[in-house]
Amino acid sequence: MTTIVRVIKVVDTRKWTSGPGGTFPIPGTGTMNECRRCGARHEIHAHVELSDGTVAIMGDTCAAREASHLGAVVKDARSLTLSIARARAKLAAIERLADEWRRYEEMIRGEHGLRSYDRIPPGLYYELRDRTAEHFGAKGMARWYMPPSRGELAKAQKAVARLLEQAGGHRA
Ligand SMILES: [Zn+2]
Repeated sequence: MTTIVRVIKVVDTRKWTSGPGGTFPIPGTGTMNECRRCGARHEIHAHVELSDGTVAIMGDTCAAREASHLGAVVKDARSLTLSIARARAKLAAIERLADEWRRYEEMIRGEHGLRSYDRIPPGLYYELRDRTAEHFGAKGMARWYMPPSRGELAKAQKAVARLLEQAGGHRA
């Protein structure tokens, strides 16, 4: 078999979820690719260049086994890919949460005749909090009782940006 000369990229095709219980990939949500090496179907794809110039896609563990001298490269690419997916899932969850809070705050303000610059009285704040959490629960999402802070959002955005920079921006 032609040997692996270069690791082009490692792509995690799975969807990720993030909530109070943690951030993790959802098995079965990715694109199953039949591995060039073992024939099994993997959701994490290692794109590698072979000595004949062609590109093959295989499981990341398989790629590392096939080319042991590139094992560390595959491992690093995999861990960076997973870190990016995790950071993106966290950011998406925070953004979604902030959106829902804004929507509910708007609705409750409307119901009580408050304008967007009026302060929300504490009683209404609790109503908003409970209804928002209930809304998340009804959607099958984890219940959140606090809106995300601006600092949390900025931190999540920074984490994604830092990892993408580390990846050299040459990945999707
Ligand atoms: Zn494989």
